[in-house]
Amino acid sequence: MTAELISHEPATGAELWRGPIGDVDAEVAAARGAWSEWAAQPFTYRAETMRRFANAVKADGDELADLIARETGKPLWEAQTEVASTANKVDISIKAHSERTGQRRGEGAMKTRTAVRHKPHGVLAVLGPYNFPAHLPNGHIVPALLAGNTVVFKPSEKTPAVGEKLVSLYRAAGVPEGAVRLMIGGPAEGKALANHDGIDGLLFTGSARTGLILNRAFADKPGKILALEMGGNNPIIVWDTPDIATAAVLVVQSAFLSAGQRCSNARRLIVRDSMYDALIKEVSALAGRLIIDHPHADPAPFMGPVIDNETAEGLMESFLFLLSNGGKAIRHMIRPDETKPFLTPGIIDVTELAERPDIELFGPLLQVVRVETFEQAILEANATRFGLSAALIGGSPQQYDQFWANIRAGVVNWNRPTNGASSDAPFGGIGLSGNHRPSAYYAADYCAFPVASNEAESLRASIGVGLKPTEAEVKAAAQE
Ligand code: NAD
Repeated sequence: MTAELISHEPATGAELWRGPIGDVDAEVAAARGAWSEWAAQPFTYRAETMRRFANAVKADGDELADLIARETGKPLWEAQTEVASTANKVDISIKAHSERTGQRRGEGAMKTRTAVRHKPHGVLAVLGPYNFPAHLPNGHIVPALLAGNTVVFKPSEKTPAVGEKLVSLYRAAGVPEGAVRLMIGGPAEGKALANHDGIDGLLFTGSARTGLILNRAFADKPGKILALEMGGNNPIIVWDTPDIATAAVLVVQSAFLSAGQRCSNARRLIVRDSMYDALIKEVSALAGRLIIDHPHADPAPFMGPVIDNETAEGLMESFLFLLSNGGKAIRHMIRPDETKPFLTPGIIDVTELAERPDIELFGPLLQVVRVETFEQAILEANATRFGLSAALIGGSPQQYDQFWANIRAGVVNWNRPTNGASSDAPFGGIGLSGNHRPSAYYAADYCAFPVASNEAESLRASIGVGLKPTEAEVKAAAQE
């Protein structure tokens, strides 16, 4: 009997989708078989195909958004924004491809011409996460296809239905069967795909835990491209501002959007001592007003459940761990129904904790640290092995300059949330957040490799110095 993968709706527990686990060898072979033909197509052909994909996404947007909302539990309005990002990715990627990996021609010595062009790697594996099951893998797949690679895509085992739907939309747009392969499976299949000799590289979005495993697996394969987009333990500093209400909105958006299941969510609120009481009162009151409900509920919720019961249990345990190690609860994280993964936002002051665990707590859980000086705030913000996103709320322009110069992160914002990054810019982090291959606008960089050429229509060469004379030259010289 073929093994099956089953996905459930987090909000209801109902079964949403089931399907057979894929065969890694067969999917890699299919992508390899299709590669030369896809790579040989002119760029304009691949770009047109991708534009048809964007239209297919828009045309099928309601169904795709509904599926994303059901399978992840995120509110329908948020799933709709994910659909829009998925479609918008195409034009941005076409622009990025030309700008980052476009052709350059010049003139060389002896009337030769020079050229810098780019070539695709071949077959790229794409491993996706569950939190943006369409937008994030698509952010790797579109640039990879545009550059002329073929792709074996393994969606998260928690969101196979969206993965399948995404692949059906590429196909509907005319992407050949072999150019995008759907590989259904979990970590074991991800591992088999990552270690398969038939791939030329791997584009990964997921946790630092998995990313580190992949980094080790690729350590002795310098010839293969590996792009790692991982998590963060992101700080948000609130400094002097008279507008406490807006600061609280920015903190709540940063911490609790997507039920805290964005890589760019703020995990640590660092606040000036003198502002602590006023800010925390406002943040806590606002967090208490957030509607947490089913994705399709009316009135629309701010956030839905986390992805599954196991994740909800893990987050509750983390909250209790912080509490029992010296944390002071500002707002308890509550799980109203033990059979469902809905959580209320938890806020906990961890200033007194002797050792704060530097891990990504991927859910609606915000840790608060109070500090006295701006220098302490920056030190505290940098006290992490991760480095994805960071924000300063309030402060003077000079303080923002100081923050920008000293903070270690790939996304650095001022008076804006830590999350909600633009696809028009590179997106990635340092430390445990990535391997210096940022995605979004810069994904084009790792979907192709540069080739430098020096070219002439006909053969032309001479050795000007360092040659012995020919016999004829010797004779001629003797007769003179
Ligand atoms: P995950 O690491 O559990 O899984 C990601 C993918 O890797 C899945 O397809 C999974 O099946 C596969 N996988 C798991 N173990 C594997 C192994 N040993 N070998 C090969 N493949 C394996 O991540 P997740 O829980 O699905 O996603 C949430 C994480 O993703 C968070 O840490 C979040 O911060 C991060 N994330 C990062 C970004 C970014 O752009 N930097 C964006 C979104 C999410």
